[in-house]
Amino acid sequence: MKAEECFSPTYEAARSKFISVCQASGARMAAYVNPNGKTPDGEALVTDTAWFGRPDAARVLLVFSGTHGQEFFAGAATQIGWVLQERHRELPNDTAVLLVHAVNPFGAAHMSRTTENNVDPNRNFLDHDLGHYTDPDFELCVDVLRVAEPSETEFQRVKGTLDDLFDRHGKGRIFALTSEGQFAHPKLSGFAGLAPEWTNDVVHSIVSEQLSGADHVAAIDWHSGVGESQSLLFLCFDEPGSPAFRRASQWWGEDTIADGVRNYGDHERPQFRGLLVNGVREMLQARYLASAVIEFGTHPWDEVCNAILVDQWLRFGEGAKSEADLQHWRTFMLERFCPHDTGWRAWALEAGLTVYDQAIGGLAQL
Ligand SMILES: [Zn+2]
Repeated sequence: MKAEECFSPTYEAARSKFISVCQASGARMAAYVNPNGKTPDGEALVTDTAWFGRPDAARVLLVFSGTHGQEFFAGAATQIGWVLQERHRELPNDTAVLLVHAVNPFGAAHMSRTTENNVDPNRNFLDHDLGHYTDPDFELCVDVLRVAEPSETEFQRVKGTLDDLFDRHGKGRIFALTSEGQFAHPKLSGFAGLAPEWTNDVVHSIVSEQLSGADHVAAIDWHSGVGESQSLLFLCFDEPGSPAFRRASQWWGEDTIADGVRNYGDHERPQFRGLLVNGVREMLQARYLASAVIEFGTHPWDEVCNAILVDQWLRFGEGAKSEADLQHWRTFMLERFCPHDTGWRAWALEAGLTVYDQAIGGLAQL
């Protein structure tokens, strides 16, 4: 199998590949249709799931792709690669894998970080009854979260303003403000939503419908764009020292997990709120084992940041966008979250498959 076979340029192509390889492998499939939109080609937005292993397995590895839609493509490639390499035939007894393909299908189909309501699904798993506080200093950052048009001049303006903010307030503080989640600006990035999104509901449905018989569940949530190119950044959100944290350290390496607690790219890790993996932990309660958000490093952060600005401009920026514009910017964004370089793609697939092996090995040793 060539690594390239596992990657797709669009959500539609990835979806049909996922369905065909999983069906051919005898997986139990399910489809969750998002009624709140369509793909750019007018097709349905669907989160597909594929279950491998005994239907009554007590131990399950749950693997999400596409929480952030722009980041769907690398994680989805590892899901398809895992099946194409027939790794499911080597599952230990009593262990199953549940692949969740495009958990934010609107974002994956439109290559947008967020959902159909511009909600960041990885900030939306909150108790919305507790209120929606936004740090007033978020206003300092509003002008670095949007561009008048996606031009080098505008990208440089944002970079200059950001550098200035870093000098005055510290890089960690600015990253915290821009990335921990906000409720004040529904058209800017980091908007966490005022109620559960469809993606949030569908994760609840998957857990209650498909995992009710599982005693022990671990989760991986694939992301991309943070960290050094061609390296994985593991972000574990369990309490250091807790049993779940210790398990993640055993499976994926003590230094690897400890590093992801301290660092986020080249600064300290923000206190993210409303993460999908935290929602999964809450749903599973005592049956929860461990989880990690895992980032494929792609390009320097400045370049990745430009792709988030393009996304915001495509959705809310002024002026008409031609089909050619859409194509151009789509390729631009894809490159920053899932580089086209064949060496990068071969590395991502290999690195991803190792992560599955480590988690499945850990589950088997419980
Ligand atoms: Zn992400």
